[in-house]
Amino acid sequence: MDETFDVMILGAGAAGLTAGIYASRAKLSTLILNEGAVGGQMVLTNEIANYPGVEITQGFALANIMKKQAKDFGCKIKSNVKIVEYNLEQDIKSVVLEDGRSFKAKAVILAPGGKPRPLNLPGEEEFKGKGISYCATCDGEFFTNKKLIVVGGGNSALEEAVALTNYADKVTIVHQFDHFQAFEHAIQEAKNNPKIDFIMESELRGFFGNENLEKVSIEHLPSGKISEKIINGVFVFVGYIPSTEAFINIVHLNDRNEFIVDEHMKTNIPGVFAAGDCIAKKYRQVTTAVADGTIAALSATEFIRTSK
Ligand SMILES: Cc1cc2nc3c(=O)[nH]c(=O)nc-3n(C[C@H](O)[C@H](O)[C@H](O)COP(=O)(O)OP(=O)(O)OC[C@H]3O[C@@H](n4cnc5c(N)ncnc54)[C@H](O)[C@@H]3O)c2cc1C
Repeated sequence: MDETFDVMILGAGAAGLTAGIYASRAKLSTLILNEGAVGGQMVLTNEIANYPGVEITQGFALANIMKKQAKDFGCKIKSNVKIVEYNLEQDIKSVVLEDGRSFKAKAVILAPGGKPRPLNLPGEEEFKGKGISYCATCDGEFFTNKKLIVVGGGNSALEEAVALTNYADKVTIVHQFDHFQAFEHAIQEAKNNPKIDFIMESELRGFFGNENLEKVSIEHLPSGKISEKIINGVFVFVGYIPSTEAFINIVHLNDRNEFIVDEHMKTNIPGVFAAGDCIAKKYRQVTTAVADGTIAALSATEFIRTSK
């Protein structure tokens, strides 16, 4: 039998959990369905040092506090589900899970976030989990006393490279430009770390090995010269892809596949809102996801109360 709620939230990252806190606190019956582990990208993050009011904390710890807050207000959370059908355009919206269960709601908040962008290089698929990783928190410990490459030049790349020096003997950051696109403090922290060195204006070209990754090829872009480097592991931090593919042709997206929303987080469909890294915006942080989730939940609350 269908279970019906006031608000259904798809995604339990920072945006979805915050929306869950606000909607359930407004006494709306609220369900969060999450396709992955609760916490989303927060649980991929080693340390979060810039969330106001909380001193440096591990990402999963912050996620657990948000989850507890939502549940304490009565929000139901179902994680590791697979949604196979979305019916968002009717007044009562519904989704169907792979196991046949279906859930209905008067309003839906889309908060599916994003996933790490791969390099799409030869050997990348083959050595995923066998030397190639996209999550320092998850896999860093496997590389204790090893030599690593970190690919990328933004905040995530530099901060996670520093975190990886807790395990690895040496971390080489490979970046395509001659400068980084990161906050100055992150750049200085990486530059001051004796275990970190840099290969600038260069890009990886391929991954090689037998059972596990053993070697990469690197192109120095100004000269076109290709060299090889023996390595135990490569961590990739080159941005993200919004997890919106299931909503193409349902909800309006821009050319980067991000949801188009107004200032109240409304999409083109009445009663459907979107929040967090999945929406069209410039800055993607826990604080901005939390802010979007707040606005989406307050807008959904108003939508439900004024549609009665
Ligand atoms: C390595 C790394 C380090 C970072 N460091 C920091 C930092 O120090 N400080 C900071 O503020 N930010 C940091 N960020 C960014 C921050 O983590 C994100 O901006 C924020 O967590 C995004 O939250 P979200 O809820 O929008 O999405 P996500 O965290 O991506 O959560 C979305 C959730 O929805 C699920 N999902 C996907 N599709 C569906 C679907 N169709 N239905 C249901 N569920 C679905 C996903 O499995 C996931 O659990 C970092 C990010 C990374 C990757």
